[in-house]
Amino acid sequence: MSLLSRLKGISAEDRRMIEEIEAMLGPEPEEMGFIKNLFWGRFREDLVFPYPEASREEREKCDALLARLEDYLKNEHPSILIDQEQYIPDWVFERLFELGVMGLTIPEEYGGLGLGVTSYNRVLELIGRYCASTAVVVSAHQSIGCKAIMLFGTEEQKRKYLPIVAREKLAAFCLSEPNVGSDAAGQQTRCELSEDGKYYILNGEKKWSTSGALAGVLTVMAKQRLKNPKTGKEEDRVTALIVTPDMEGVDVFEKNRSKAGIRGTWQARIRFTNVKVPRENLLHKEGKGLNVALSCLNYGRCTLSAGVLGGATWAMEQSTKWAQTRYQFGRPIADFEAIQQKIAKMAALTYGMRALLYMTTGMLDRHDPDIMLETAATKVFCSQMGWEVIDEALQIMGGEGYMTENEMERVWRDHRIHRIVEGANEVMQSYIFGYGGKQLAEQMLAIKQALGWDRDQSPIENLQRIVRNAFNPALLRRAVPLAAELFLGIRPEAPRIRRVHPSLRPWADRLARLVQQHTHYFKLLSKWEGDAIVARQAQQARLADNAMYLFALSAALSDMDRQLRQGASGVAFEKDRAAFEHLFDLLEIRIQQNLGLLRRNGDASMRRAAQATLRYVDALPNQDYYIHEASPVAKGTGKPVQKEHIKQFPGDRYVTTGGDGAPAESSPARSKA
Ligand SMILES: Cc1cc2nc3c(=O)[nH]c(=O)nc-3n(C[C@H](O)[C@H](O)[C@H](O)COP(=O)(O)OP(=O)(O)OC[C@H]3O[C@@H](n4cnc5c(N)ncnc54)[C@H](O)[C@@H]3O)c2cc1C
Repeated sequence: MSLLSRLKGISAEDRRMIEEIEAMLGPEPEEMGFIKNLFWGRFREDLVFPYPEASREEREKCDALLARLEDYLKNEHPSILIDQEQYIPDWVFERLFELGVMGLTIPEEYGGLGLGVTSYNRVLELIGRYCASTAVVVSAHQSIGCKAIMLFGTEEQKRKYLPIVAREKLAAFCLSEPNVGSDAAGQQTRCELSEDGKYYILNGEKKWSTSGALAGVLTVMAKQRLKNPKTGKEEDRVTALIVTPDMEGVDVFEKNRSKAGIRGTWQARIRFTNVKVPRENLLHKEGKGLNVALSCLNYGRCTLSAGVLGGATWAMEQSTKWAQTRYQFGRPIADFEAIQQKIAKMAALTYGMRALLYMTTGMLDRHDPDIMLETAATKVFCSQMGWEVIDEALQIMGGEGYMTENEMERVWRDHRIHRIVEGANEVMQSYIFGYGGKQLAEQMLAIKQALGWDRDQSPIENLQRIVRNAFNPALLRRAVPLAAELFLGIRPEAPRIRRVHPSLRPWADRLARLVQQHTHYFKLLSKWEGDAIVARQAQQARLADNAMYLFALSAALSDMDRQLRQGASGVAFEKDRAAFEHLFDLLEIRIQQNLGLLRRNGDASMRRAAQATLRYVDALPNQDYYIHEASPVAKGTGKPVQKEHIKQFPGDRYVTTGGDGAPAESSPARSKA
């Protein structure tokens, strides 16, 4: 058990959550990634300078594909039809397979194009400019649907499945369940090895599998009872399996549900009843399914970001064009400072999103060992900033922005989802804070336990321990600077950022000071909040956001350094340069505001207001409100859902009998429809 999970005064649920996260993440990587280093006040220049770029050969190959793809997207792709009719026609999938988009990252020997992560994200960014539904389907297919086979598949599995998903059939990812949303470790689908050892017997139900009803290959996560080799005890672990829809007992009983945006994508509900999955379909190792799922999500979180980046860039250009040509009060609305403020913000944020995304994809292409915080931060930053950009763009277009034919309202609806899926942003913030600061927090705790007063020990025991540890040189080497920083306010030096272009020196120095503040405030916050920090998610989110902003600023600094060294010029460069400077101001202001809020905030009244509201709503009758279908406390008591005026999809057999999201039932009557 780690030091963090031995904290006193935290609830059993919090302790369980910490233990689960630790078990889920496995052993610490040898090398800490960029964001973890920020928590320690270090700036790993070698990880972000020079700005990563694909080889010339790869760039040329990707450029050629982008040209063909753009021609198709501009002249043939039916983005409006896809949204209005809520499906992607078969011929679109055929064109995407033909173009090689669906097998872009699959190695050439298995029928793909064999391109890297950066090229793949450039393609997703371009698709995102035109059609978010298509971007999500391509991403679900290749980043999560069949990625596990690419990353963990045996040679035999690769030869069997990759050519199919590269050239003809979609792949889908089945992690979520009625009772499994953010809590991915809580899988209820189960698999057990058959007595003869030839099959896994799979039982359970999956929800929201994008393209699950259209796919030829499914990556399915399920709990398995396994013996822990260290303790000898049996425990539940997650195992990943390759399942195909033709296996007996696989029932896609709901193909899709109507929704706010990305309406061309289809999310399936799938039931597995005693499905015999051949043992050779095991992905990676038994019990390693969460590692498989989380590794795939590293890629999905990038391509999700690329799709938003494409949509946000289009929204920025479209709304700016609108502002230049829409006249009110005798002049273009672009003349008003309120509109210019939005234009500058959109330019700055899209610049930051792009710099951050391709920094992270470069790290993935390089196979950096510790990358999960960077992909999580990229996802949170791009989904949040992309949303801000698109919302401002719609506002600039006024009433016309809200009208369907100008396409902005679709883009606005489409991109709302990204703050929810592939790790909801709130959960990612806690993760960035907790995992980013984990090693530092553990070290601080170790020092406190070695040298601090323990109320559970007698005075004699306390003195013996403190005196003994006070002569431990290794401990003192760490404890003295920490004590000086926490109690005397003596901060360690700001890191040095040496490699930047000389004209960027002022921004590099500003960034170094912000990193110095970040580690200082992390330590102060740990001191102020003590063990309660585990539950203080508002505080966690402030420092998680700051870590994410610092990463974005580092990526932007490195990208501008690259452009300057390459002698970039012209209006596109001028825009980027001005956007870079504005981004620095915007994010520095957000960072300082967050640091101020660590000390002076409304968190105490927030908690009281939340509790009072919870008590008030608790007294309102359940039957007037919608209740989650898997609620352990109120399932079946909610307001009936009304489906009759909502578009349904052919072949669905899912009925919510009580109309309250009650568990799925198969209805032979509906199946004939
Ligand atoms: C269009 C769409 C496509 C999808 N595609 C797939 C797919 O292909 N495969 C697949 O497996 N799944 C898929 N999903 C499921 C998706 O990953 C989940 O919706 C997501 O994980 C969130 O789970 P949830 O919706 O149950 O929200 P919940 O987990 O119920 O969360 C609701 C809210 O509570 C917050 N919250 C939850 N836990 C915490 C916590 N510990 N701390 C703070 N806040 C918390 C969340 O941030 C969120 O704001 C898809 C979903 C949608 C809508």
